[in-house]
Amino acid sequence: MDRITGPNDQSLFVDRTAGKRGQKGPFFVVYADQDAETRWGFFCGHCETADSAVDSMGRVQCNECSNRTKAEEWDSAHE
Ligand SMILES: [Zn+2]
Repeated sequence: MDRITGPNDQSLFVDRTAGKRGQKGPFFVVYADQDAETRWGFFCGHCETADSAVDSMGRVQCNECSNRTKAEEWDSAHE
């Protein structure tokens, strides 16, 4: 787990072993606590920010660099 600072200056934790593949770079799963009990969102591996949004189809888009996922493909499921 990598500790990062979120958009509201809160501490967030990035699991770089789980995530989705994006057009510009991977999105990693972000938790609000170090024990990975509370899912917070996604961390953009392209611009290194946690400022991303998930739509109703489960697609992730970065608000900073417009990185986005294409399909509901979970890299961790294949490794
Ligand atoms: Zn980004």
